[in-house]
Amino acid sequence: MSDTEKTIQLLDLSRAEMLEHVRALGQPSYRADQVRQWLYKQLVTDPAQMTSLPLALREQLAAESGGAVLTPVVETHSSDGQTTKVLFRLHDGQLIETVLMRYHRRNTVCISSQAGCAMGCTFCATALMGLQRNLTAGEIVAQVLYFQRWLQEEGEEEIGKTGKGGKEGEQIEDMDYLQDDVGVEETDYRSPITDHGQPQRVTNVVVMGMGEPLANYGNLWKALHNLVDADGFGLGARHVTVSTVGLVPAIDRFAEEPLQVNLAVSLHAPNDALRAQLAPINDHYPIAEVMDACRRYIARTNRRISFEYAMMRGINDSQALAVELAALLRGLLCHVNLIPLNPVKGSPYQPSTREDVDLFMETLRAAGISATLRVRRGIDIDAGCGQLRARVESDSQLPQVTGT
Ligand code: SAH
Repeated sequence: MSDTEKTIQLLDLSRAEMLEHVRALGQPSYRADQVRQWLYKQLVTDPAQMTSLPLALREQLAAESGGAVLTPVVETHSSDGQTTKVLFRLHDGQLIETVLMRYHRRNTVCISSQAGCAMGCTFCATALMGLQRNLTAGEIVAQVLYFQRWLQEEGEEEIGKTGKGGKEGEQIEDMDYLQDDVGVEETDYRSPITDHGQPQRVTNVVVMGMGEPLANYGNLWKALHNLVDADGFGLGARHVTVSTVGLVPAIDRFAEEPLQVNLAVSLHAPNDALRAQLAPINDHYPIAEVMDACRRYIARTNRRISFEYAMMRGINDSQALAVELAALLRGLLCHVNLIPLNPVKGSPYQPSTREDVDLFMETLRAAGISATLRVRRGIDIDAGCGQLRARVESDSQLPQVTGT
């Protein structure tokens, strides 16, 4: 497109930018609120359909709009119907993944923050692709809006007793005893609950898909504000978790942000030698520096940090390492999330055995460190970070999604 510079995606705009934009178009300020209502409450992103706006404004906004932000190309469902993963194509052909995980009274969307990733973690499928580019704020937010629409459509279908993804009469297993994602156990009771006991609303967001969110700092926070603000999507800040590989300066910046979203840090090893092997960024930000940043974050925010630890057989899962990890984390307001590794094609690492995971977790707990095993969701649909895209790029036989 020759006039790309003029393209304006409404989802990319902060509240202040929206105000500025409608004023620049000669419109009164309240039009900004109306547009945000359409975007985040009515889930309408096509300006032509924003029928409360004057026709001329609709036409103006439509003319400068760059078209669909996300186009779904592949949708996969886990065998239990509770996890759905979508591969989206962006306007420039980049592919990103988003996952919906449904639990008892809670729907968590795991979103991507970059196309690819530059961090190079040796067990991660996304790392193998390298970094293509940062996602825009609109591309980050649109992943959540997509699944909100999806859940609403399902709710409407359920009234007609068909169910989308899940099967009729299916048992919903209460898995809350295994905390799957961090700090997000409460239920949003404002959400309507269907007779399957599922709220038809995205209740939680974790930024744990493709990419390093804190390496796309500005767009991430703009997106988070639009997701959390009451006149935006209206998600509870405490129901949002951002996961980082441990970018120290960005953790310090995070601590100063007014939004009370949760922070998770991917640790995976209690010492530098092992961590550098798994997460090469450790050479820049060694564990002691990451821990200092975490302590500053906790002192500043009084919020608990979650440490993620992907369990790899014979690599980082010994009892001795659990003891070392407990010593590292002693006295810190934190929680450890043990994640069974999703094996990645082309990577030598295998998941730990259940016995080793249990012993590791018990060792941490005995040392007074709160730890849970995250339920591995969607292993049968490549729902690990970057895995669906990797498979699609080597296999054209997957079911394709049509329409939006
Ligand atoms: N870059 C960020 C967020 C994206 S990855 C980060 O590093 O935290 C989200 C989580 O999934 C991280 O803890 C990451 O280490 C983990 N992860 C990546 N590949 C995985 C795999 N194959 N199996 C299990 N966890 C994996």
